[in-house]
Amino acid sequence: MNADLHCHSVVSDGTLEPEALAARAKANGVELWALTDHDEIGGQQRARDAALALDLPWLSGTEISVTFAGITVHIVGLGFDLDDAALVAGLAATRGGRRERAIEMSEGLAKFGIKGAYEGALKYVGNPELISRTHFARHLVETGVCADTQEVFRRYLVEGKPGFVPHRWATLGNAVRWITQAGGLAVIAHPGRYKFSPTEEYALFTEFKAHGGLGVEVVTGSHGAADYLKYTDMTLEFGLLASRGSDFHSPDESRTDLGRLPELPGQLTPVWQALAHRVQRRS
Ligand code: AMP
Ligand code: MN
Ligand code: MN
Ligand code: MN
Repeated sequence: MNADLHCHSVVSDGTLEPEALAARAKANGVELWALTDHDEIGGQQRARDAALALDLPWLSGTEISVTFAGITVHIVGLGFDLDDAALVAGLAATRGGRRERAIEMSEGLAKFGIKGAYEGALKYVGNPELISRTHFARHLVETGVCADTQEVFRRYLVEGKPGFVPHRWATLGNAVRWITQAGGLAVIAHPGRYKFSPTEEYALFTEFKAHGGLGVEVVTGSHGAADYLKYTDMTLEFGLLASRGSDFHSPDESRTDLGRLPELPGQLTPVWQALAHRVQRRS
């Protein structure tokens, strides 16, 4: 099945509206779709309405920012109830502090001779609570400081660079519990992107599972061939389910378009088998 269970709209750091994403997913042959904005579910109702109108089966989604062993990890939640009070409050708490962080990032860049980055980034923000590094990257590309967003991250926005501000996100246990207790399924997003030692990575999988996490994003726009093999093995070793998602943000920036991903390796059990009762379709 062509499931794409990871992408972003203007409600977080994507450039398309939820309706445009639904249409693009449908046009690209997606058969099960979730919008997973960072720390925010404000676009879910629009995504659902658009998907169902297009006869595109839909799951609720979000991508929660977590700090684990000093590193930012993303946990995707799928198929949860949108009105769950603990989840709604947990996401709001996770969003809090982004504005202050952004101002600090801007001060760091100013010391480096790049003035007004906060105001510049704000021009790209659809949801002020969700100002992210991506919006800074768009501003620095638009003003000619860098050629593309990859270069902005490499030179300015990753640890040790002038625009990087360490931030404390949700705990792993809370993120997994908010999703799970709202009836959803928690997934470790793009594990190949984190700079963990093998021991730390093992601890991440172990603790994730102990908290009730069930899925691993094996096929994602962030993974190469070696990652597919490695995370197929780890998913099987930990007895977890596998997910698939492009992490599409923008037609101009994203490496992988909606629905244009390799199949999940055949020996894996897909998360959508466990989520069948949570899928919404046109009645
Ligand atoms: P934040 O939540 O503000 O720390 O921003 C994280 C977002 O930045 C991620 O969700 C990606 O969309 C984007 N991002 C992180 N690293 C890179 C990179 N190397 N190149 C392009 N975008 C990146
Ligand atoms: Mn993002
Ligand atoms: Mn992510
Ligand atoms: Mn993402």
